Amino acid sequence: MSEGTCLCGSIRWSVTAQPTGSSHCHCSMCRKAHGAAFGTYNTVDAAGFEWLTDLDTLKIYEPAPDAERAFCSRCGSVVPDFSEDGETAYVPAGSHNEGPAVDIHIFVASKAPWFDITDDLPQYAEFSSDEQLQVHPDKPLTDKPEGVIRGSCLCNAVQFEITEPFKFIHNCHCSRCRRARSAAFTTNGFTSSDGVKFVSGESNIKIYKLPEAKFFTHAFCQTCGSGVPRLDADRGIAVIPLGSLDDDPGVKPDDHIFVGSKAGWYDITDDLPQFEKYPE
Ligand SMILES: [Zn+2]
Ligand SMILES: [Zn+2]
Ligand SMILES: [Zn+2]
Repeated sequence: MSEGTCLCGSIRWSVTAQPTGSSHCHCSMCRKAHGAAFGTYNTVDAAGFEWLTDLDTLKIYEPAPDAERAFCSRCGSVVPDFSEDGETAYVPAGSHNEGPAVDIHIFVASKAPWFDITDDLPQYAEFSSDEQLQVHPDKPLTDKPEGVIRGSCLCNAVQFEITEPFKFIHNCHCSRCRRARSAAFTTNGFTSSDGVKFVSGESNIKIYKLPEAKFFTHAFCQTCGSGVPRLDADRGIAVIPLGSLDDDPGVKPDDHIFVGSKAGWYDITDDLPQFEKYPE
């Protein structure tokens, strides 16, 4: 049995059945909803899934008529969702410290240009052949303005431009990031706080601050739950979830940090430097 929770603890659940499958999904909806390189989902028979809390803060966003995304409206974490017939639960693995080994990569055709797949798992361009769901193509990109990297949330309410280069990009495996993004790890780009301009939707951003943390806050779109840039004017920094980018930033993550807190079900297979906590 494995218990999962959103970052703020308002929504918790228990998985009592062995998942029937587990996949890393690289589709743009997962990248945006999680604000990460990919989402990882365990497929669980609904009889083996149980909510442990009431669902007062659960919010559903429908990016397409046949698709939905569930998140906690208090903290922004992605939370489990169900198939249309209610018989299958899709549980974000990032909310669990332990879980089954992942079987496959799906929607690799939509993969983020800044993330390289370095493991040996089978890769599918879209869904694997035995799944009966529809394909949602990536948002087509138009001409990219010079010197600007654009990004947006899944519902498009929040749009922003990054005008300064990233100082560094960390893949962070800490438990707070994993819960906030419900993903294996988060990939955050750091630049100065005046290097990010909101084109629209800044008032639609909700900030959740973890009560016990000194700095840890999670910024997300209130409508769709996507992770969005967090500007910290006091410290002069902006933290941008790379999953929200629409343009190729032309750079890749520098390292893995907080690998001491890594999810037990995820193996790092690339050659990037790894730090137990922060780099020295
Ligand atoms: Zn929550
Ligand atoms: Zn996906
Ligand atoms: Zn949104």
